[in-house]
Amino acid sequence: MNFKNITVAGSGVLGFQIAFQTAFHGFNVTVYDINEDALEKAKEKFKILSEAFKQDMNATKKQLDATSKNLKYTSDLAAALKGADLLIEAVPENLKIKIDFYKKLAKVAPKKTIFATNSSSLLPSKLAKVTGRPEKFIALHFANEIWKHNTGEVMRHPKTSNRVFDDVMDFANAIGMVALPIYKEQPGYIVNSLLMPLLGSALELWVNDISDIETIDKTWMVATGAPMGPFGILDVVGITTVYNINKIAADSSKSPDKIKVSERLKKDYIDKGKLGISTGKGFYTY
Ligand code: NAD
Repeated sequence: MNFKNITVAGSGVLGFQIAFQTAFHGFNVTVYDINEDALEKAKEKFKILSEAFKQDMNATKKQLDATSKNLKYTSDLAAALKGADLLIEAVPENLKIKIDFYKKLAKVAPKKTIFATNSSSLLPSKLAKVTGRPEKFIALHFANEIWKHNTGEVMRHPKTSNRVFDDVMDFANAIGMVALPIYKEQPGYIVNSLLMPLLGSALELWVNDISDIETIDKTWMVATGAPMGPFGILDVVGITTVYNINKIAADSSKSPDKIKVSERLKKDYIDKGKLGISTGKGFYTY
């Protein structure tokens, strides 16, 4: 892997974290977003992330100054791609927006540029064709607060070349991620494929009065040595997201347990503004 120039498209929650992390590790990073307003919002987040890196990663002033120098911002897509070895896409999780974005990108990106999507739920093969370069297209999925929760799930689709897969694995390691190879497309990658059944089962044990929240969490922690139980995790994820995911599953499966979970989450949590850690109250009080 001899990447030097990285472009990050979309500078929202995840995009700016990816840009910052990549610049912190010495790469030249160009941040692209749709307009100057969006870019101004990204620039404002530099201070917040600097504080987080100081606190969590012992980042020094010298490192943070270098990070700032490594970051450039533009709303001109062609200029953003000039000389790019890798483009990381973190635009909104919406198939139409992503397709439009890749169509525009395919027209202006240099031939050598590899495209990596950070999409959480869209399989790369859904987008591969519109990129115009399926062999140079792959998923590189980060978790929120990427400097702390540093999983880099590298997932290929059937047409991704071996070279691109290896290079993106190396890149993920080079920016401080633990690079995790995924050889076949899988909705939810590895982390969510493991986590979703755990969280779903915990919710069903609770709504069916099999046990209480604290006991369910305690059981998981004592039995596995995990630092947090499923309800602690649900509070971190946020109960709105949990409700939305469960509602989709309830509507499509018509499972009585999932419908019960939906109703209970809405009545006792969403309607009362108890949305998890972000609101100070969820399954636990913070
Ligand atoms: P976000 O809404 O915070 O940010 C999206 C950014 O994209 C915004 O800055 C917006 O201005 C910009 N944008 C909108 N339309 C655009 C376009 N046409 N071209 C370029 N930029 C455009 O979203 P997010 O939470 O950062 O999510 C981005 C991607 O990352 C999604 O695919 C999501 O699934 C994935 N992801 C999110 C998380 C998370 O915890 N938020 C975790 C892992 C992966």
